[in-house]
Amino acid sequence: MRFPRSAMALAVLCTAGLVVAASGVLLPQEVHPAFARSISNAESASSSGNNQKALALLKGVVYPEGVTVKIDESSIPDGRRNEAYNATAASIKTWQAVLSGDSPLQFVGANEEADIVIQFTNSIPADSADCLGLIQLKKEYRWNNWQHELGVSGTIHVMKSFNGKPLKYEEWNEVICHELGHLLGLDDVTENGKLMGPLRFGKPVLAPATNEVDAVKTLRQAARQRIIQIEKSLRQENETPLSALLDSTEFQQLHGCSL
Ligand SMILES: [Zn+2]
Repeated sequence: MRFPRSAMALAVLCTAGLVVAASGVLLPQEVHPAFARSISNAESASSSGNNQKALALLKGVVYPEGVTVKIDESSIPDGRRNEAYNATAASIKTWQAVLSGDSPLQFVGANEEADIVIQFTNSIPADSADCLGLIQLKKEYRWNNWQHELGVSGTIHVMKSFNGKPLKYEEWNEVICHELGHLLGLDDVTENGKLMGPLRFGKPVLAPATNEVDAVKTLRQAARQRIIQIEKSLRQENETPLSALLDSTEFQQLHGCSL
């Protein structure tokens, strides 16, 4: 079955935090607006009967199939392979630990297929010149009346050096952990000392603060709860005798959306 493709490109870095209330679902202010929008759009879709679209959007928040991450080995600066691998592994392990095992992130080998590729770079492809990292994230949602699909892909750009000085291991660790925070749904904050705050040289923040962890947990729980509710209502719908269905047309138009 073919689905029309549509995509959301999300480049996130150094944007201000917002208090977010997505239609009926209150989310912590640490949540990135794009994720709040997904939940809000899922609510709209579900209330207008488009439950497959709602499920695709909600799964783009939870990533129930997991998100694989690998390093583009060719981008690692000479002699720093172990540091690149250790910084990535430490970041993924940190998120796994603070989320009590409920992290979708999976580190895979360089030769494997991966959703997210970490690239070490000399310049960040964004407006802001002083940023040390960037995640470019694309989510593709496809659905029809009976099923849905989610595609996740993207790149985490990590600066090799800043002002001519190579970034240290801890700085790579912080940048990668921060960008994974965006992948999990967090927005930037201006507060120092937070993982999602600005990186300060010599004062590495290598793990999310309690409020940042709680925000990810709350977001994942809210989205997961809606998935369970919608799937339950769909099961009940399927058990409804055919004669009781209001709409029995054979409408097979496929839909795509840009969010
Ligand atoms: Zn950021």
